[in-house]
Amino acid sequence: MTKRPSAQDKGALRRHLKNLMQSRKLELHQQLSLHISKELTKVPELLTAAKIAAYWPIKGEVDIRPALETFQANGAEIYLPRVTGVNLEFIATPDLRLKDAPKGPFGIPCPDGEPQPLSSVDCVLVPALGFDPEGNRLGRGKGYYDRALGTLNSTPIRIGVGFSDQIVEEGLNPLPHDVQMHLVVTEKTIYRF
Ligand code: ADP
Ligand code: MG
Repeated sequence: MTKRPSAQDKGALRRHLKNLMQSRKLELHQQLSLHISKELTKVPELLTAAKIAAYWPIKGEVDIRPALETFQANGAEIYLPRVTGVNLEFIATPDLRLKDAPKGPFGIPCPDGEPQPLSSVDCVLVPALGFDPEGNRLGRGKGYYDRALGTLNSTPIRIGVGFSDQIVEEGLNPLPHDVQMHLVVTEKTIYRF
């Protein structure tokens, strides 16, 4: 768990967590990502999901693609996000490599196709800079996931994904617009809220 700096200062906390994620050695990143992917494939909600919205890992985020391939092999449809202005759109993506896809904002490859409402998927895998033990989430400070998830209720099931050092012991001082997770999965723990 990360203790410092204080969650009172979200800017400093974001910098600290970004640094921690981006300074991880590639080999450790891959090893832990594989471990977390295995943990994800043990989550009953994901194993039974027909449609799973996921993310393309950037800047040291957990590489969940091994898990996505497993879910896909089991028949689930995977949706990846496209950043459009201040919003996220989710597109069914059969070829998860996105090899020739153009790069969009933040260097994220853009899947091609019609966006589907997020309310039509069963689970959404959510990246973050940090989570706390109550299921609160700290993003990169642009509120994309709060906007995408804020008007939805319990569907899709919101599953945060992070390395265990992204769990911040103190509260993240969430604001009313911050959307909580139903589960958070790290290499050490599957938290349920
Ligand atoms: P992040 O979740 O990426 O850490 P914040 O929670 O700090 O970022 O949100 C960043 C900004 O996004 C907020 O100050 C707010 O202006 C905007 N925002 C977040 N959620 C909503 C929402 N549901 N509707 C409109 N604007 C929102
Ligand atoms: Mg937020």
